[in-house]
Amino acid sequence: MELWFTEKQTEGLALSLLVTRTLHRERTPFQDLAVLETVQYGRLLVLDGVVMLTEADEFIYHETIAHVPLLLHPEPRIVLVIGGGDGGTVREVLKHPSVEKVVLAEIDERVIEASRRFFPTLSTGFTDPRLQLAVGDGIEHVRNHPGTYDVILVDSTDPVGPGVGLFEADFYRMAAAALRPGGLLAAQTESPFVNRELIRHIHKNMKEAFPFRRLYLAPIPTYPAGWWSFTLAAEAEVNPLEPRILPGLATKYYTPEVHRAAFALPPFVAELVRKE
Ligand code: SAM
Repeated sequence: MELWFTEKQTEGLALSLLVTRTLHRERTPFQDLAVLETVQYGRLLVLDGVVMLTEADEFIYHETIAHVPLLLHPEPRIVLVIGGGDGGTVREVLKHPSVEKVVLAEIDERVIEASRRFFPTLSTGFTDPRLQLAVGDGIEHVRNHPGTYDVILVDSTDPVGPGVGLFEADFYRMAAAALRPGGLLAAQTESPFVNRELIRHIHKNMKEAFPFRRLYLAPIPTYPAGWWSFTLAAEAEVNPLEPRILPGLATKYYTPEVHRAAFALPPFVAELVRKE
């Protein structure tokens, strides 16, 4: 008998992966957590039935959310990752020699634990002395840390459950206040194909706190419609097309050319954020 994991991505769209083994399943205080072994994409982390990552394509997401803002900042020293309990984003941030401290504000300790146990290639940063775990709500964290961070990365779940507030104007106001002068925020902002209203909503909510916002894109095979958006946000104008070059940065997806290409928006995507 074949066992398939299916995520209903929208009312009329699903992704199915053939599963060879259920490695772990638990109900955490926040969500339903599963780790499955799949034929096509290796190990899969699922929260509340939604694909968080697979071993095969996680590098695209994590390199894109981390290196784009970090290489647009002149010297990122203190970085905050909100969500991201799998460790993939932290792993990429720690590749930057200027970074002295990374704080991981993940609400669900069990996600961190599952990654330590089942995703050794993602959780490499958990033993790095520059990492500080701040288990708890990312919204409370930014509220309590004004003027602290050079870069904030919002590596959240979709806007459901504890992730809802991470897409709202109040959070963006507090996140802007948690940045040091010249600071940058980057957030995963869902699919430009199937979450179009949501992207509009997010940019509207960001508007007041972050006068400068730019959408950028990357293909993520296991996310809804296979194509994903991120948003770079700052108080003042930034030229997103001139990243610093970091010699020796080991990546499988990110290059300066890919960075620049990520900001090229097809008209039907550009129109989502034009008015905002
Ligand atoms: N890259 C993934 C995606 O787009 O599907 C996100 C992966 S990461 C595992 C998302 C994490 O955000 C989850 O572990 C979840 O527990 C955490 N999270 C959700 N809401 C949060 C909040 N308010 N504060 C901190 N972490 C939160």
